[in-house]
Amino acid sequence: MASITIRNIAKKFGEFTIIPGLDLEIADEEFIVFVGPSGCGKSTLLRIIAGLEPSTSGELFIGETKVNDVPAAKRDIAMVFQDYALYPHMTVYDNMAFALELRGMTRAEIDQRVRRAASLLHIEPFLERKPKALSGGQRQRVAMGRAIVRDPKVFLFDEPLSNLDAKLRGQVRTEIKALSQELKTTMIFVTHDQVEAMTMADRIVVLKGGEIQQFGRPEEVYETPANQFVAGFIGSPAMNFFNIRRAGEGFVFEGAPHLAAPVPEALKPALGDRSEAVLGIRPEHFLPSEGAVGVLSVTIDLVEPLGSDTLTHFDLAGVRTVARVNPELRPRAGERLGFVAPAGKVHLFDRTDGRAIR
Ligand code: ATP
Repeated sequence: MASITIRNIAKKFGEFTIIPGLDLEIADEEFIVFVGPSGCGKSTLLRIIAGLEPSTSGELFIGETKVNDVPAAKRDIAMVFQDYALYPHMTVYDNMAFALELRGMTRAEIDQRVRRAASLLHIEPFLERKPKALSGGQRQRVAMGRAIVRDPKVFLFDEPLSNLDAKLRGQVRTEIKALSQELKTTMIFVTHDQVEAMTMADRIVVLKGGEIQQFGRPEEVYETPANQFVAGFIGSPAMNFFNIRRAGEGFVFEGAPHLAAPVPEALKPALGDRSEAVLGIRPEHFLPSEGAVGVLSVTIDLVEPLGSDTLTHFDLAGVRTVARVNPELRPRAGERLGFVAPAGKVHLFDRTDGRAIR
């Protein structure tokens, strides 16, 4: 069993508190992604789990065992870093075999493990090559191979794709996901890329300032973000936000007080007696519409065709806004378009603390 339990783990560097106190339960065989902006403490938390960095306080369990005082080498964890640092003078085979030789394993067993990992990662043709004769993606796979042969209880990945170009990133991302399904090992993957988080994770931990903003399945985090930070961080392009305020029975946009804000009836009770809030609409939830009640009429000023869909940019109530539309609509700059936001897709947040109102 390689569940991971983090109980009130805190980390200070000198007088700077990086992680104020964090609790997390990761189940055996789960693929967890830590995501958050630069400096939010993702790598620090990963290094604490790996045993490369001591926590200032709190408890860490792998399975049933408390590992606070267990050195990194004894935690049965393999870590794959961004700069995968292969030994340049060794072949791919030897790069993978090296750690096993140090453990005193027999030649036959080493060979079996190296070949199994090479097969899983599709690197058999390169086993006799040196790292410099490999592409970036192939090197990255060798780095993973080195981790796999050790057959660890837990895999930790620290931004392992950030040195790869966009196409290769997508490819290796899919491979790691497939691998996690085959290996059935607990994995934690650190990234600042929300697309990686969404596509790979069983569950995502969204971090900011060393604190968990939300922990949930990708679709949960996307559909019901806990607060405005998560709503803005997960999803690309980001959710559009508008300040709104109460006017009579309903709400209006603050930047256009004559314009009714599409606050769904179902959310009105949750707003309580608030006089103001933040309205959030994702680019993909603006639906082109003509003549309907509550249409938001805008003038498109920039069009970005992406092939599968088209991004249209416009000003709505003084806010730069982006909507994702079907390319068949063939929107053009200068054209006027009407949009509606379906009631079930509109988000509201508290203006003061950013918490979701629902
Ligand atoms: P990135 O995505 O940029 O790698 P991150 O979320 O992984 O960021 P960490 O590397 O965990 O962030 O760093 C969190 C904070 O701790 C940062 O503000 C960083 O400057 C600080 N920090 C990290 N290591 C040390 C250290 N050894 N001494 C002092 N401060 C540190």
